Amino acid sequence: MADRVLVTLDGVVRDADQPLLCADDLAALRGDGAFETILVRGGRARIVDMHLARLSKSAEALDLPAPDLAAWRSVIDTAAEEWGEEAEGAMRVVYSRGREGGGDPTGYVLIGPVQDRVRAVRTDGVSVMTMPRGQSVDLGQIAPWQLVGAKTLSYATNMAALRFAARYGADDVIFVSSEGRVLEGPRSTVVIARDKSLITPPASQGVLAGTTQRALFQVAEDKGYSCEYAPLFPADLITADGVWLLSSVTLAARVHTIDGLELPEPENSGAIPSLVDLAVESVT
Ligand code: PLP
Repeated sequence: MADRVLVTLDGVVRDADQPLLCADDLAALRGDGAFETILVRGGRARIVDMHLARLSKSAEALDLPAPDLAAWRSVIDTAAEEWGEEAEGAMRVVYSRGREGGGDPTGYVLIGPVQDRVRAVRTDGVSVMTMPRGQSVDLGQIAPWQLVGAKTLSYATNMAALRFAARYGADDVIFVSSEGRVLEGPRSTVVIARDKSLITPPASQGVLAGTTQRALFQVAEDKGYSCEYAPLFPADLITADGVWLLSSVTLAARVHTIDGLELPEPENSGAIPSLVDLAVESVT
């Protein structure tokens, strides 16, 4: 089994150890493009419709040509097949503005192994630090050029936030708006459980619409949960029955500690991960 699979948007399977981008690709020069990260399980990419819908939204926000969804779907399938059924993979779908001098956008799909750290977090959960994002919940409305809600290639500040938290011994981060509302993690959606309710902050408050959370809500509604988009405050995290960070490859990571305060383990702490597993099995 290959440990990396690379397929370009023209459908060609490439050697992932050979260089691919031109030095003046705007992905490299400016982080100017969009991406998706998709779980590959059992030789199949998961929740692809939702990921492609979000890629289209991100491309629109960036004034990139609308992605050719049939071509992307075919490349995603080719790459997942090449990867095989044996191991889970983390697929990156990358769509950049292309070379500085003009020409077509750059598009490719890269699959690599799911890191051990990710597997550990699924079972052991995470400690998080709440941190200001330095933005209001209305940033998206008042400054559309900030591309709030688009999944752009510019993730340097998200990664810096994670390194900052690591220096203080925390595994992950929950960003808080300037009004003190809970936003999201640098690479995850925050969902809390209260009795049979699941609650997440609305995308209109400046968070990325998470595919894992949406797929979870679809499945959970059918299982009798009430699922809500509502503003949350850090105090809600402390008083919730459970707090989860959801994302496509990690799936569900239970938050066991917030700002040094240990949260009690929910009574049925396996329920949410099982629903997320069901969601990646059944939602397209
Ligand atoms: N919010 C941010 C900022 C993210 O980067 C991600 C995923 O990478 C998410 C939320 C969760 O989205 P998804 O469940 O589609 O992976």
